[in-house]
Amino acid sequence: MPFSAPAERDHPAHQAMIRHPLPAAGPTYDDYPRPEAFGDEFGAEAFGAALAASNTGGRPLSMDLALPYCRQGCWHCERRVITGDGQVPDAYLARLDREMVLLRQWLDPGRRLQALHWGGGTPTLLGLDQMGELIDRLAARFPLETGRDRDFTIEIDAREADVFTLRHLEALGFNRLTLPLIDLAPRVQAAINRPQPRQLTEPLLDEADRLGFRSLTLELVIGLPYQTRTSIAETVGQVIALAPPRIRLVSYRHRPERHPGQRHIPPATLPLPAETHQMLVEADARLVTAGYVHLGREHYARRGAAQDDALRQAQREAARDRLGLGVGAVSRLPDACARNATDLAGYAAALDAGRLATASGRRLTEEDRLRRQAIAMLYGDRVLDLDALDRALGIDAERRLAGALSRLEGPACAGLIERRGRRLAVTPAGRWRLDELAGVLDAYRLPPGGTS
Ligand code: SF4
Repeated sequence: MPFSAPAERDHPAHQAMIRHPLPAAGPTYDDYPRPEAFGDEFGAEAFGAALAASNTGGRPLSMDLALPYCRQGCWHCERRVITGDGQVPDAYLARLDREMVLLRQWLDPGRRLQALHWGGGTPTLLGLDQMGELIDRLAARFPLETGRDRDFTIEIDAREADVFTLRHLEALGFNRLTLPLIDLAPRVQAAINRPQPRQLTEPLLDEADRLGFRSLTLELVIGLPYQTRTSIAETVGQVIALAPPRIRLVSYRHRPERHPGQRHIPPATLPLPAETHQMLVEADARLVTAGYVHLGREHYARRGAAQDDALRQAQREAARDRLGLGVGAVSRLPDACARNATDLAGYAAALDAGRLATASGRRLTEEDRLRRQAIAMLYGDRVLDLDALDRALGIDAERRLAGALSRLEGPACAGLIERRGRRLAVTPAGRWRLDELAGVLDAYRLPPGGTS
């Protein structure tokens, strides 16, 4: 049976949201500025200089390694993936290696690679030999962290992995897994072109537990075709029974003009925005009742050790410089960000010519850093603390964000965020509209005629 937490359900702003449709899906802010705000005048040379400048901070490194290959496309997916024979070509791995060499030239040799994330498609399409070779190449270019601060994560597709894959990954040094479950209802799975029986997932969870992986995140998507409050309640109930250490609840965003695969999904099969919102609220309430803690934005962890582990991992990641490797990968340094060419041909051509594949980027201003931190606060603590921003950046945050603050306090955000002194706190209803609130802080996405 669907249910929701009474306090949240009865909140006037929540009731208002149920009555009124949600606005069209906008962008999310995994980080700021978003890649759409990068400029193509920032190329390989500028990125190389930014890498060299980052050596002054000497921060440990984190690497997002994109493997954009999948056996077939899932209609809901927002990623740009290459589908075909279910293999990752060796030529792509060779170019990743070339990119590592070029990156390495700019970085102090002592900077350790503490975190690694393999994603972007279906990394488990790699053969076991290819996985081993890729780790060997990384180890040849970067000192890999071997201690407690190592956070090596890989996205596992249950249809393309088995217990032997997990044993191999554990032996290679991976200690964290992400496993997209999406939805367990066969009708929903058929509508997104992703049949994935639950029986494929259970042995992987058992084996990950037995092998001692430090975390496993099961991902669910809400707002998909044919989902109902009852079907989501069933799926969430089954996920809770599997007891993963972490869960991610993602909202589906139907933007077929940007993501061609989504054109296979007839809009009439989608739940209404208000129903989707109700499903999210109910799923959240179920998770909390079952002992999960909401960590911010889409993330939950089991109360206790899993929660502590997630918080410590987030703190470590905030203290690292992030390198993006592969097609379309994004790098984030304290003073600059950069994105690789998003098409395979452009990516390959740059590396074959012996230069980094940077296609766009931005040198960050003080204001970019202020807004980046403000958005991170909104997503994490759900509080925009002006005093904390002043202290962290040594500036007058209220003055610098005056335009955005007046919009956050204005009628468009009424009921979603409330000001108390020097703190703006997200309300229970606003928690489900964090992307829109963050969008108000985005200086590169001004409303028509607006000022930031
Ligand atoms: S959801 Fe995963 S498997 Fe499906 S197309 Fe996207 S990246 Fe590939």
